[in-house]
Formats: sequence, C-alpha cells, structure tokens
Amino acid sequence: IWRADLDALLDTLTPLKAQLSERLWLAPSCSLLHSPVDLDQEDRLDDELKSWLSFAKQKLDELAVLGGALDGDDGVQPALQAQRQAVAARGQSRRIHDPAVGERMAASGQVSRDRLSPFAERIGKQQAALKLPAYPTTTIGSFPQTKEIRAARRDWKAGKLDDSGYTELMKQEITRAVRYQEQVDLDVLVHGEAERNDMVEYFGELLEGFAFTRFGWVQSYGSRCVKPPVIFGDIARSKPMTVDWITYAQSLTPKPVKGMLTGPITMLEWSFVRDDQPRSETCTQIALAIRDEVRDLEVAGIRIIQVDEPAMREGLPLRRSEWDDYLHWAIQCFRLTVSGVTDRTQIHTHMCYADFNDIISSIGDLDADVISIEASRSDMKLLGAFGEYHYPNEIGPGVYDIHSPRIVSAEEMKELLIKAAETLSPEQIWVNPDCGLKTRKWDEVKPSLKHMVEAANQLRAAPPAAKPTEPATA
Ligand code: GLN
Ligand code: ZN
Repeated sequence: IWRADLDALLDTLTPLKAQLSERLWLAPSCSLLHSPVDLDQEDRLDDELKSWLSFAKQKLDELAVLGGALDGDDGVQPALQAQRQAVAARGQSRRIHDPAVGERMAASGQVSRDRLSPFAERIGKQQAALKLPAYPTTTIGSFPQTKEIRAARRDWKAGKLDDSGYTELMKQEITRAVRYQEQVDLDVLVHGEAERNDMVEYFGELLEGFAFTRFGWVQSYGSRCVKPPVIFGDIARSKPMTVDWITYAQSLTPKPVKGMLTGPITMLEWSFVRDDQPRSETCTQIALAIRDEVRDLEVAGIRIIQVDEPAMREGLPLRRSEWDDYLHWAIQCFRLTVSGVTDRTQIHTHMCYADFNDIISSIGDLDADVISIEASRSDMKLLGAFGEYHYPNEIGPGVYDIHSPRIVSAEEMKELLIKAAETLSPEQIWVNPDCGLKTRKWDEVKPSLKHMVEAANQLRAAPPAAKPTEPATA
C-alpha cells in the first residue's frame, strides 16, 4: 500500500530498457487482488498520510509514470517530482518517529526474553495459586457478538450513545458471560471480548502508529474479506487497553478470569506494515507495548493472561531459507511480550488450525505455560507433532469445531479427550473449544459448553488408562 520510490525503480529499469528496448514490459509484482482498490475514496485519512499511500488504482498510475519516464516522455516529470517529494517527506515525518520508542528499542536488547524460572518450576507455583482440577476447562476468549452488541458499538461510534452508556452496556454483556460460565462451572473464565470489534483493530485503535481506512478491503480467503489496519509509524501504548474490562469481569467472580490480548506477531501479520524498517523491528515495538499491558494486568491481580498468536504460522516466508530468521524474531517478540511477569502468573497462547509438524520446536520455544489449538476437525491427529516432540508444557486441544452450528455431545468430546490422552500425558491436558465463539449464537454456545464441562467431569471421575511409558531412547 506504500507509494513507490520511482527513482529507485528507474535505477533498476533504465539499464534493462537500454538492453531490451520495446521488449521490456512493466507490471506490478503481484496480483492487485491483495491491494485495496482506490485511495481517492479515503475521505477520512489526512493528506499527509494519504500522500504516502498507493492502492491498486494509484499503483497503475505509478506504472504509467514509470513507463513514460523510460520512454523519455517529459509529460511525466511533474508526477515523478511529486512522487519524489512525497517519499522524501515521509522519511522525515515526525509522525513516524517517536523518540521515546526509539530509546526503548535501543535498550530492548538488555531486556530478558526468558521467564524467571523454567516451566517445570513455574507450573508448581501456578498450580498452588490457581488450584485447578484435572482437565481444566476454559474457552478461547470471545463469546457471541450479538446484534445488540454490534448496535451498541455502531451507536457509540456515531455519537448516539455516550461513553458511559456504552461502557454500561458492555459491562452488562461481561456480567452475562461471567454468570453463564459460572453456571456451567467452567474453571477458567473469560470476559467475552464484547467490546472488541476485531482482535487486531481493537488494539490498533488504542495504540499510536496505526491508522484505519474506510474502504481498504482485501480478500482474505474464499469469499471473506478483511480491512487490515495500517501501521505507518512507531508503536506506543499511551494507556492500559484492557485492564478495566478484565478487572471488572474478575470482580464478579472468585474464579480466575483470563486477561486476553492479541500478540505482536498476529498484530503484524494482520495489518499493512510500514516498509521503511524491517518487520522484526515493528514487531518488537508492538511486543514492548503489549508487554506493558501484560504487566499492568498482573499488577491488577489477573492470574492468567492469554496472548493470542493465531497468525504465527501464516507469517512464515515463502522461501524456506528465510524460515529460521522469521521464526527466530517472531519467537523473541512473543517471549519479550510475556517475560515480564512472575512465575505465578500463567501465560496462555492460542493458535488456530495449522500444520504444526514443521514448526513444533518453535512452538516449544514460545515457552507459553498453556497453548490452546484447533484440533477437533483433525480428530486430534494434530497432536501427533506435540507427542513426538515430547512437548513439555500444557495444551488445550480444541474439542469442538466452532465453525459449525452442530452441538457436539459430551460423549463425542470425551472420546476426543481420551485420544488426546493417548498422545499427551493427562496432566498436560486442558479442555476448550477450537477457537473463539464470537460467530456462534448463544443457543449453540450454551449446550456446547455444558457438554464440554460434562466431558471433563466424566474424565475426572474415570481417568483414561495412562499411556504406556515409552522406553527411553536417545
Ligand atoms: N481470543 C480470540 C477469540 O476468542 C482468538 C481468535 C482467534 O484465534 N482467531 O476470538
Ligand atoms: Zn483460533
């Protein structure tokens, strides 16, 4: 989405033109399907930011200017000049560079990416503090985004509902979610994410360095479209983003409520990212901002904090030779986000459906205390990778598919858990759905979670036979 540096491109193209003459064709480097359509439509972006951007239509204009320049057409000179000025102005804009972020980045090398103690020590302290039963039950974070919630948000954004009215409605939703979870007797509760339009946009709107388009839709997969935020500048958090909502939920119940955050890798992957510094640097800036949120949640008394990273695998570069570099900085960013807490605070992460086989050691290196993954559709086969790797930390393999309205029976979920216990050791296993429940209806969520808790209770009452211990092999 960034306006091209045409001078740099001309430096490459001019010798080619000399060599190939009219046999040289110019085209964008990939399908325009992946760019928003037309920047001219964006009536709410300021002129400065707009002058740095180029959507599909503008990219074709850039292409025409390049072609004209190569053909020696003087008519393109004004356009070339304007482009040159915009690119130079962007490089110097104060909106991009935040000195406080620069200082923190410079010192960030000194910040430890390790938790205080290894998992084997942490988990004992966490268990002592949390006192959870075997096969602890929880959910991935979101509860149904009902039309009432969406209407409240729409009215609030349109100024028809004031801040306190909106907060009140969201608190009612949180209360409803907490009461329901208590009623079905889940062990670790969530606040339900009612206040979040989208797991990246919500945080982007509260962080410095992000901008939002009105029409910047792109295809995500199939017929689904997304409108990614634009990361144009240094990222900083000016105030806590989730603490009020989570502590409100925690105030309603003695059971632990999970703090719920989107991780730095996912924030990066699901945004349009500035191209004037390495992605790893932008990701580190996000990690530092979310790290502060993690610490604030801990200070506010939240005992479990989940940092979602559903996009970790999709960030893998196409070229295999670049995988290690990506995985290295991605893991470091996750660890930077969560390493500031005490051993007693339990860090969870969540990933959606993915082939974990070839990145399992990286998943291990995240060193999250608990990871929940989408597994039910694979009939738990996905866990093979975790078993072979002897994944040491705790895992919640999803026991029902949240993309389907089908209400799965307790029996069926219990069978899946028994399968999981064949691959993992029972002490490692958590019980949760595959993913968040925001797209489901309460009518579907209520019986499903009730069955899920029943399945866990049945396993507690009659634990599956322990898996045969493997002969120690080197
Ligand atoms: N916490 C998020 C939710 O429950 C996670 C969503 C995701 O994995 N894509 O909606
Ligand atoms: Zn998910």
